[in-house]
Amino acid sequence: MKVSIHWFRRDLRIEDNAALYHALKGPDPVQCVFIFDTEILTKLQEKKDARVEFIHQEISRLNSELKQRGSSLDVRIGKPLDVWKQLTKDYDASHVYANRDYEPYARERDKAISQFLESKGIPFTTKKDQVIFEKDEVLKKDGTPYTVYTPYSRIWKEKLNDFYLKAYPSGKINNWNPTEPKAIPSLKEIGFHPVGIEFPDRNIPEPIVKDYHHSRDIPAQRGTTRLSLHLRFGTISIRHLTRSTKDLNAKYLNELIWRDFYQAILWHFPHVMDNNFSRKYDRIEWRNNEEEFNRWCMGMTGYPIVDAGMRELNSTGFMHNRVRMIVASFLTKHLLIDWRWGEAYFAEKLLDFDLASNNGGWQWAAGTGVDAAPYFRIFNPYSQTNRFDPKLEYIKKWIPELNSHDYPDPIVDHKLARQRALDTYKVGLQ
Ligand code: FAD
Repeated sequence: MKVSIHWFRRDLRIEDNAALYHALKGPDPVQCVFIFDTEILTKLQEKKDARVEFIHQEISRLNSELKQRGSSLDVRIGKPLDVWKQLTKDYDASHVYANRDYEPYARERDKAISQFLESKGIPFTTKKDQVIFEKDEVLKKDGTPYTVYTPYSRIWKEKLNDFYLKAYPSGKINNWNPTEPKAIPSLKEIGFHPVGIEFPDRNIPEPIVKDYHHSRDIPAQRGTTRLSLHLRFGTISIRHLTRSTKDLNAKYLNELIWRDFYQAILWHFPHVMDNNFSRKYDRIEWRNNEEEFNRWCMGMTGYPIVDAGMRELNSTGFMHNRVRMIVASFLTKHLLIDWRWGEAYFAEKLLDFDLASNNGGWQWAAGTGVDAAPYFRIFNPYSQTNRFDPKLEYIKKWIPELNSHDYPDPIVDHKLARQRALDTYKVGLQ
């Protein structure tokens, strides 16, 4: 029997799924597949990776939702092209659908898959799903991409209308490929072990969104939505989230726009993946002291707000946004360590790791990116603490030994470090 295939990637949900909707509307019943990509998995050093566990949990959920609809999820392990060679033998596929992914690796992968499928006479259709506006939808009048957030966000808001927020009723169309229930591979079969972390839930916490402008900068409070993991893997729809929150809080909407903005930057300027967005910063001489880097990673710099953040990251896979900015500024300015080191450490640890936002956040902090803070504006970790954690609640939560001899002295004097950063950036920019 001819089938149409939907390939799940960063869109792990049945409801309001753009490509899945188009697949279901087509003439042939839809078979869903998921591929554990060994090109990605083999690069993960740590075999206890909570993100793999999360994906595993979510595809198990998808499989049972499909089971209720008389179908099932076909889960494969391997290199995507090899898997597709096999899938086209196992199914008589008339069409393959997927939602677009803007990362350089994904673009290359999809190009290769598309060429292969086309060589077999199977069209490969991709749809926009993980952002509100993509690619060339928000451009300057002269047709070039924005590199400054504020004018980008203005046009983004001007363009926003019901059309872009419309839900795709994919959950309501009954055109599934009837199959016997299939078991999905266990975590162990994929080569991973459970971590046992508790994942944030995917409900939209309305009271938090309403109060977001007051509470979003206070790391001791639960003042942000913690939906980043779900946005990363598409277990919540960005259209649904935007529709539900856009009239509740303007500041919150701005954060969702930052997410689109960084995706657009990665799309238009893929060189940011390994390089400074602004090439004039290429001559900065980073100190790159490995011992200091290790102390930063472990949360042992002797700067409590920095160490609290790093310890939160190490034990939960999450770090509050305000603290992400502080620790990133500290690593790049106070310790003069290349932002790419910090970016890679975050990529390994963050549950919500997303190439575009992570790279954008790091280059912003280092001053090398789009719309970055000017390099001479250097966060003072002490005044940041006074403003955002005045009672040291967040700090004490993560550093119980704060007032004991076990807690180290500051790794570097703040004034000295500040001056050293200013001098180094100045020389690099000459
Ligand atoms: P909320 O405050 O509730 O915001 C709602 C959503 O808006 C977030 O879930 C996220 O999708 C988006 N968002 C919020 N702030 C930003 C921002 N500054 N840039 C882009 N999107 C934003 N976010 C990631 O999703 N993945 C990353 O790998 C990542 N790395 C970062 C690295 C650094 C150095 C910095 C400074 C920021 C980084 N961020 C990253 C952005 C931000 O810190 C997180 O999105 C946010 O802390 C997630 O928590 P939340 O879901 O409670 O956010």
